[in-house]
Amino acid sequence: MRMSRYFLPVLKETPREAQIVSHRLMLQAGLIKQASAGIYSWLPMGYKVLRRIEQIVHEEQARAGHLAMLMPTMQSADLWRESGRYDAYGDEMLRVKDRGGRDMLFTPTAEELVTDVFRANVNSYKDLPLTLYQIQWKFRDEVRPRFGVMRGREFLMKDGYNFDLTKEDALHAYNRHLVTYLRTYERMGLQAIPMRADSGPIGGDDTHEFLVLAETGESEVFYDSQITDLTFGDREIDFDDRAACQAVMDEFTSRYARTDETHDAALFAEVPEERRRTARGIEVGQIFYFGTKYSEALGATVQTRDGDSVPVHMGSHGIGVSRLLGAIIEASHDDKGIIWPEGVTPFHVGILNMRVGDAGCDSVCDDLYAQFQTAGLDPLYDDRDERAGAKFGTMDMIGLPWRITVGPRGVKNGVVELTCRRTGEAEEMSVSDAVARIK
Ligand code: ATP
Ligand code: MG
Ligand code: MG
Ligand code: MG
Repeated sequence: MRMSRYFLPVLKETPREAQIVSHRLMLQAGLIKQASAGIYSWLPMGYKVLRRIEQIVHEEQARAGHLAMLMPTMQSADLWRESGRYDAYGDEMLRVKDRGGRDMLFTPTAEELVTDVFRANVNSYKDLPLTLYQIQWKFRDEVRPRFGVMRGREFLMKDGYNFDLTKEDALHAYNRHLVTYLRTYERMGLQAIPMRADSGPIGGDDTHEFLVLAETGESEVFYDSQITDLTFGDREIDFDDRAACQAVMDEFTSRYARTDETHDAALFAEVPEERRRTARGIEVGQIFYFGTKYSEALGATVQTRDGDSVPVHMGSHGIGVSRLLGAIIEASHDDKGIIWPEGVTPFHVGILNMRVGDAGCDSVCDDLYAQFQTAGLDPLYDDRDERAGAKFGTMDMIGLPWRITVGPRGVKNGVVELTCRRTGEAEEMSVSDAVARIK
């Protein structure tokens, strides 16, 4: 993309409404624009990052055999009356009437709807196990929408639902989700720690939240510092192998790690004092096992091998896709701006032409641009006739991992400057070496 043809409305002034750095940078770097309280338009570069995050989520779900689908945002209240949640959900649910006077609502989550899809189509144990998921907009009328996309009212969530014959099968699905989530967050450059949590209005016994440690997080967390040494990394795992998935679950949940909702001071005291940590965290996901709560209420049953009819065991699993942009920026920025991890960056490399109109500079930039495109990478070329200071400022703020600076002096000597956004290290090299380094 050429900057001269792009839509990147970078703000000159610091937006006053932003209380935390990710919100400020998302507004300043032209990623989002507030439409109304807790509701945002996603501008081209913000949308690009959102799509890359979605893509990682899809790839990791597919790896575990989970199936993507899409359910509507507007739902009839009837199903929610059947499950008993229409009244129980409270003021976070946005309720509307259609022209016929029927009660409708904007989906805050989709256990009811997916269970209805299931009960209409699945009758036999032979069709299990089944995990369906979607990435869809949700609406929750939060009391205090704030911190930009971190606590929006309209937000993008990945929500997945497993249907299994037995509790044991459903707990395997639970473990499988833990593994997919660990992989998903790591690919985004995040450490998200699974912590024992409280199930809230979703209901159920087993639940873990995934928290990214950050001072601006809304949850208070307590953990054994050893847990921060764990990474899933690039291990191979067979998602059908129950023991292997259980081993990952055990490894990642055996040390003390809880949110304030489930914190147990006596248990925490058993952690050696030098390893006890109290901090703040951002909830970027949660997994639940809730058994037959919805399948019983909605009559989602299957025939067993013996011909008995039994309610299916279920769980649900969420990732805050739009919140992740905020969480990533909270975890990865400096005083100049965002530092995108490679996995989610909107463009792989920025090309900065220091003298637009100079035949040598222009041709080196065009050459770089073409080479990156041929290599399947996405370059952003700052071809605007602007002051160098402004161009550097924008490039640093939008946080692409690499910058290549092309100036007349270097061009004469056959070199360009390659700068790493994270370390600030700069090195002069030939065009072909710069391309090779980034590929
Ligand atoms: P919170 O405790 O932050 O209100 P939640 O526990 O109500 O979140 P879940 O029902 O577990 O949310 O939804 C799954 C994920 O969706 C959360 O882990 C979070 O990452 C994301 N999410 C929830 N509410 C919001 C929101 N208002 N804005 C952005 N993301 C959200
Ligand atoms: Mg909530
Ligand atoms: Mg929560
Ligand atoms: Mg939650």
